[in-house]
Amino acid sequence: MGFLSGKRIVITGIASNHSIAYGIAKVMYREGASLAFSYQNNRLKERIEKLSTEFESNIVLPCDVSDDKSIETFFVKLSATWENFDGFIHAIAYSPPSQLQGDFIDVVNRQDYAMTHDISAYSFVAMAKISRNMLVENASLVTLTYLGSERAIPYYNVMGTAKAALEANTRYLAYSMGRKGIRVNAISAGPIRTVAASGIKNFKKMLSYYKESTPLRRSISLEEIGNVAAFLCSDLSSGITGEIIHVDGGFNITAINIEGE
Ligand code: NAD
Repeated sequence: MGFLSGKRIVITGIASNHSIAYGIAKVMYREGASLAFSYQNNRLKERIEKLSTEFESNIVLPCDVSDDKSIETFFVKLSATWENFDGFIHAIAYSPPSQLQGDFIDVVNRQDYAMTHDISAYSFVAMAKISRNMLVENASLVTLTYLGSERAIPYYNVMGTAKAALEANTRYLAYSMGRKGIRVNAISAGPIRTVAASGIKNFKKMLSYYKESTPLRRSISLEEIGNVAAFLCSDLSSGITGEIIHVDGGFNITAINIEGE
């Protein structure tokens, strides 16, 4: 019996089998969780329906997190099958491509800043707020963040500011929802080649620098992120809330790589 046996978890953010959310779903399924899936739009519908069969799930519903109505409809439709549930994985981020290419001061503008923060940071709060009456007492919410929230990383730009807001949201939600025993945490993942990540200029360069500089001298896998997400949604982590847990091979503890001849 897996350590998530009996848990019902909503997984957002699968775009393909390279997505971090897919890796998380795989581990959660392995550990016995029942899963429900959301997809952003019709373009992804068929693909997510197909992937969900790997997890013996037939709950696959649309949810565009830029629209409260769409989030509400998602949870209303979910309630037809699950009266309540044990948590969700928020693995969603978006910034217009131009924001992830140039120099921060040149490319940043009010409209793209607002959109990036809305979809990548506020949506976590919106999902928690709208679903709170369906969450069981010891539910667990997990989001995905990146080191660009703490350090200035070339081309990450406004997404770094959105991740900083997302991490603050994690702490405020943890404080607010802790009264009901609900825990809220974030995983700060090392770079993984996904659709979202490949929109960042020089992402390949980032990945190879990372492999050489991280204490473990390798990149991390989807399974390693999935293992931590599963742990955070399980009763094994019952004392942990409001944390930002780095799953990055230790990259965040390093400062400068001067090894070599
Ligand atoms: P991905 O492209 O596979 O997933 C991003 C998902 O966001 C997609 O499924 C997309 O449909 C969804 N999305 C975007 N806008 C949406 C909206 N309006 N409504 C609903 N869904 C929407 O990429 P990923 O790398 O797996 O990203 C998942 C999360 O992990 C993101 O928050 C990302 O910032 C974070 N993260 C990624 C890395 C990395 O290197 N890949 C590292 C650290 C953190």
